[in-house]
Amino acid sequence: MQHIIVFNMSQKLVSKIPQGPIAAKWTRHKEEIRTVSPANKRKLEVIVVGGGLGGASAAAALAELGYNVKIFCISDSPRRAHSVAAQGGINAAKNYANDNDSVYRLFCDTIKGGDYRSREANVYRLAEVSNLIIDQCVAQGVPLARDYGGLLENRSFGGTQVSRTFFAKGQTGQQLLLGAYAALNRQIAKGNIRSYPRHEMLDLVMIGGEAKGIITRNLITGALERHGAHAVVVATGGYGNVYFLSTNAMNCNGSAIWQCYKKGAFFGNPCFTQIHPTCIPVHGDQQSKLTLMSESLRNDGRIWVPKKKEDVENLRNHLIKPSQIPEEARDYFLERRYPAYGNLVPRDVASRAGKERCDAGFGVNRAGKAVFLDFASAISRLGRQVIEERYGNLFHMYEKITGVNPYREPMMIYPAIHYTMGGLWVDYNLMTTIPGLYAIGEANFSDHGGNRLGASALMQGLADGYFILPYTIGDYLASKIQEPPTDVRDAAFEEAEQAVRMRINQLFEIKGTHPADYFHRELGKLMWAYVGMARNHEGLNKATTEIAALKREFWNNLCLSGVPNEFNQELEKALRLADFFEMGALMALDALDRNESCGGHFREEMQTPDGETLRDDLGYMYVSAWEYKGENSVPQLHKEDLWFEFVPVAARNYKD
Ligand SMILES: Cc1cc2nc3c(=O)[nH]c(=O)nc-3n(C[C@H](O)[C@H](O)[C@H](O)COP(=O)(O)OP(=O)(O)OC[C@H]3O[C@@H](n4cnc5c(N)ncnc54)[C@H](O)[C@@H]3O)c2cc1C
Repeated sequence: MQHIIVFNMSQKLVSKIPQGPIAAKWTRHKEEIRTVSPANKRKLEVIVVGGGLGGASAAAALAELGYNVKIFCISDSPRRAHSVAAQGGINAAKNYANDNDSVYRLFCDTIKGGDYRSREANVYRLAEVSNLIIDQCVAQGVPLARDYGGLLENRSFGGTQVSRTFFAKGQTGQQLLLGAYAALNRQIAKGNIRSYPRHEMLDLVMIGGEAKGIITRNLITGALERHGAHAVVVATGGYGNVYFLSTNAMNCNGSAIWQCYKKGAFFGNPCFTQIHPTCIPVHGDQQSKLTLMSESLRNDGRIWVPKKKEDVENLRNHLIKPSQIPEEARDYFLERRYPAYGNLVPRDVASRAGKERCDAGFGVNRAGKAVFLDFASAISRLGRQVIEERYGNLFHMYEKITGVNPYREPMMIYPAIHYTMGGLWVDYNLMTTIPGLYAIGEANFSDHGGNRLGASALMQGLADGYFILPYTIGDYLASKIQEPPTDVRDAAFEEAEQAVRMRINQLFEIKGTHPADYFHRELGKLMWAYVGMARNHEGLNKATTEIAALKREFWNNLCLSGVPNEFNQELEKALRLADFFEMGALMALDALDRNESCGGHFREEMQTPDGETLRDDLGYMYVSAWEYKGENSVPQLHKEDLWFEFVPVAARNYKD
């Protein structure tokens, strides 16, 4: 293993968690931080990179406050950010279902769901502002589902025993994004926001140790541009595509946060990735994307495999249909193992249980890598129409992809990479270790610890953008009111632009034989095999060596078509992939360091006799924050110790 230098609670990691009772921390903090007067806000510029739910909500809220905002995104409109893909819903502690939900219960569920690896203060604040998000979105006209009497409807997601998930059929992300996009457009029309679609951030610019701007590439013309501001907010989403096959869109990438990391922002918990249990299984070598079947389906769908190997064989050979297997011959393994939560255990638990059955030889497709998600009992209890109203578009999507009608036969599902809990380390103000650089949404290391509960990413992204950053950024900007607009002729911009130009030229000079996709697919295989659902010491060391070898091959044998100064998607892919190699290596290093199992990070050496995660609270109750030390040096590990004053720390139990 590489030699890692460790710093405990170094001076660079000041989390700024306010003192006092948990329920009073955020209110007190807001009272104590500085504010900026309306006349001064007009003089200050903020760059927001990313137009998803995190970025769009932040940009709209900041412009509404009076700041001058520039928003950048890769797609042709912020409205097409990957947040549109979110299907199932968004959590909030409204207790509309009258089932004894509360801010405190949402807080506890999230801490427990994250396997006690997140900050109590942040998670409580998240639960606290969750209700404001729903009010905001309803005011914007987001068509959240309503019950017969007109009240907002709720359903359940994993890791909870209440119904607190608000939804818009199976298109919650899209509808929420339309709301944020409308708010954004209102400010664009007023001249408070300038929007730069099809612009990719390629570097962060720092002046005097503070974030002062970015270098972008115009994806249509290929031109490099300089943009300055008084503060920079990164909202560029997660880095799950390091695995190549994932539920993320192909454009999702981790490059912007990686550029910030290389400029000095610490990277928090890089190895914490989420595997989602209900995705359509891989069905071929040429596939580049996996499709999620929303967790909401587990409200009514029951997960099972046959009890007898003979039935498994017959299914694989298409000699019988799943509906022909009688009730008593089915193993509803989640209901059997976790009676209290049943099919609604958290994602990491459900994924591992499904994999365990498949590894034991009960996988129901040809590859032996699928379990059933069955709606037969829900359809007979509620009728097909109710199921259609609840999940119609998801059923339609499943049938389009697989050719199987899920109203008649169960869906086949298998775990897949879905979300990254890791990201840029941020303090309570959402500021990274670089002054003036903020990270929000999936791009930060987040409030979800070792495992995110379903429907909590939208909650976190919108909490960050609408209700947290607009307050906390004022504390920093209050000291900038006399600073003139950033001059993009500064030497720091020249240097950063030249570095980007050189990197692009370097890629074109390789003139090898394999396209970026070839290397990306190979990297994905390594990541899934050794840094995927199950990790161990030997495999992680192997990953480190093999990723380094593949990276070398990439830099010697990449074939890049086209030219730099025009629309060139191959170049975009190559630039992002170059960063994925480095990110993958850091993920393996972090996973190697964390010799415990927690949440989605399952170290095979650390498990209970019945295959559950075994944490080591004495050794690892910390956020790992990695500091870049240069191309050929091992990054330095800083530890932010976690402590739990308000939720008793216990082994996670979803059985009773
Ligand atoms: C299939 C699917 C279903 C999901 N369903 C749910 C759900 O039901 N509930 C839930 O809570 N969560 C869900 N999630 C998770 C949730 O959707 C995401 O975590 C969340 O939407 C991320 O929002 P974001 O604003 O942080 O990032 P994104 O929405 O990914 O936006 C990133 C933005 O950054 C831009 N960008 C990226 N790199 C650059 C760059 N270098 N320069 C300029 N711009 C850049 C992109 O163009 C985009 O505008 C789901 C995720 C997936 C994949």
